[in-house]
Amino acid sequence: MTLNDPINKLKGVGTKTADLFSKLKVNTIEDVLSLVPRGYSNYDEPVDINDATFGSRVAIEAVVQSYVEVKKVRKLTLVTCIVKDFTGSVKLVWFNSPFLKNVFHIGQTYVFVGTISLRKGQLTMDHPEYYTRQQYETLTSTLWPIYPLTEGLSNKTVTKVVKSALVLVDDMKETLPEQIISQYKLMPRKEAIRGVHFPENREAVMECRKRLIFDEFFFFIARMRRVREKTIKAQNRYCINDFSLAKGFIENLPFELTKGQQEAVDNIWQDISGDTVMNRLIQGDVGSGKTAVAEIAILSVVGSGYQAAFMAPTEVLATQHYMTLLRDFENYNIKVALLVGSTKLSEKRKIYESLAAGEIDVIVGTHALIQDKVVYNNLALVITDEQHRFGVRQRTVLAQKGEEPHVIVMSATPIPRTLAIIMYGDLDISVMKDMPSNRKPIKNCVVGPKYRPTAYRFMGEQIEMGHQIYIICPMIEAGENVEAENVIDYAEQLEEYFGNKAKVVYLHGKMSAQEKNMIMDDFAEKKTDILVSTTVIEVGIDNPNATVMMIENAEKYGLAQLHQLRGRVGRGDAQSYCIFLCSSDSKQAKDRLEILNKSNDGFHIANEDLKLRGPGEFFGVRQSGEVLFELGDIYNNADILKMANEAVDYAIQNDCDINLPEVDEIGISL
Ligand code: ADP
Ligand code: MG
Repeated sequence: MTLNDPINKLKGVGTKTADLFSKLKVNTIEDVLSLVPRGYSNYDEPVDINDATFGSRVAIEAVVQSYVEVKKVRKLTLVTCIVKDFTGSVKLVWFNSPFLKNVFHIGQTYVFVGTISLRKGQLTMDHPEYYTRQQYETLTSTLWPIYPLTEGLSNKTVTKVVKSALVLVDDMKETLPEQIISQYKLMPRKEAIRGVHFPENREAVMECRKRLIFDEFFFFIARMRRVREKTIKAQNRYCINDFSLAKGFIENLPFELTKGQQEAVDNIWQDISGDTVMNRLIQGDVGSGKTAVAEIAILSVVGSGYQAAFMAPTEVLATQHYMTLLRDFENYNIKVALLVGSTKLSEKRKIYESLAAGEIDVIVGTHALIQDKVVYNNLALVITDEQHRFGVRQRTVLAQKGEEPHVIVMSATPIPRTLAIIMYGDLDISVMKDMPSNRKPIKNCVVGPKYRPTAYRFMGEQIEMGHQIYIICPMIEAGENVEAENVIDYAEQLEEYFGNKAKVVYLHGKMSAQEKNMIMDDFAEKKTDILVSTTVIEVGIDNPNATVMMIENAEKYGLAQLHQLRGRVGRGDAQSYCIFLCSSDSKQAKDRLEILNKSNDGFHIANEDLKLRGPGEFFGVRQSGEVLFELGDIYNNADILKMANEAVDYAIQNDCDINLPEVDEIGISL
């Protein structure tokens, strides 16, 4: 058996299991070993039912009190049973496991592990694991991996398969140069892989993960340096000197550009009139007016007869940008088109044709813009908005489509400068620090759930004044379907509360792009008052009439993400408010939210956040958006990022052999 063998070579793995694994992109034995747990479960000593904290995983030891009931509810089989200890009772609920009827009998004692919540006045535990006392004791002495899963594949199965694959762990190749390993005192890769699956204790996990995260960062940075070498020397094929069209546009804007906007525009003009191609990151906090800068850049190249592409991470956002460009370019003889996944096929074909013929000047869209089918006539500028959603690397794909067009990447991620230099080492950076002068700072508050009725009353007043509201729905850990139901439930309750005083709508990730677009359009046109949403709303949406943002379970999000969410309000000249509803009593959670409460400045927040985290918090709140890395989080693991950056320098200076794959994991070649 070798690492390259398919996993059904392993004992006990059939084709059915192998198929499920392939959904996780795990096909070979090496893939199994590379599957890193996303956490570990401690089996703690059971607690009294009365002392169990809601919402987190607990073990209880309890006696079966009732017969097991099996009920059909729509397509589900529901199995329920009451258990109790000396302090209280809990209703256990399982789905689709009718065989349990023959497992539990009145009077037996088991240890049940799961999350307790209060439902209709009754403590409830959904889908608990169950063990005899004896079985449980062997568990408490071990740290158990929790793997990424897919429907039909249980953690138990994955654990078993990993365990049998471990016989080959010594064949796992070292990826880093010898010198780097000794210089930075890293553990051998195969040790890290072995340890990350079945670690002895938490400290051991940290060390192993550290090594694997180091790998991710190291190769990312090394690759980026290589890209930089290429792009920095690339000749400017679209030298543009005539900015009269763009200048006219600036003069006719209903506002003065901020200092930051003006500087960004100057940087861009200098770049595109220079000798080498432009690769620029425009970093500007939410609401700083990046779209206007994009429009000016677009007019600059279109004015010289070239094409421009404007790419956004979601259809909703792409559509919004398209509408903005149509509005703002109305008096210019410029053809703007929209190309997204849900565009009709016949329409798409037409767009491809006109793009190739050069009849379209500006194309706005999602990643549909970078598919092979799309051929440009003379693409001179590519702008990607909120680019962190794409991953920095996808940028190269689009860049390769034209003949090395100028590239602008726009990001609101308030990433501290020290990290930005590392992460965006292949880009020049313009930072827009100031906000448009008509803005009033957002008023914030951090409150507990008791404040909810007051918040609703306040929203009522704002709606009466003609303003609109966003509510980010409570976060639920389970599957996405639950999340959707949760949004719908919440919206229904609000509807009941507001009656005919407010029109409530909701939005969640499971909706089709068209549905989402429609809901956003209605909201923009003020046909609706309150938008209840999951965090799908976080990026870029611009509705200056919305003045209240309320975020339920604020403690569960990263600060950067919360700041993004808050940025949906305070975009016009009316006073805006952000209510962070914190459902946790933990001091740490409150301290973190206090940072947001006191400041509206994204860069300040990011720096404070970094300080508060301290190095090596692997399982802290993951920052949204930064989906570049599988394991590493540039905030939580900032120290490793810095170390990896140094190591790349060291490797280059010492001529170490860095084995960079020609093509990276998402298929982009060097
Ligand atoms: P972001 O940087 O978050 O993408 P937008 O580009 O969406 O921000 O701009 C937010 C709002 O501010 C828009 O409604 C835009 O028209 C407005 N705006 C942009 N620049 C200025 C400015 N210099 N003065 C006043 N309002 C501006
Ligand atoms: Mg924007």
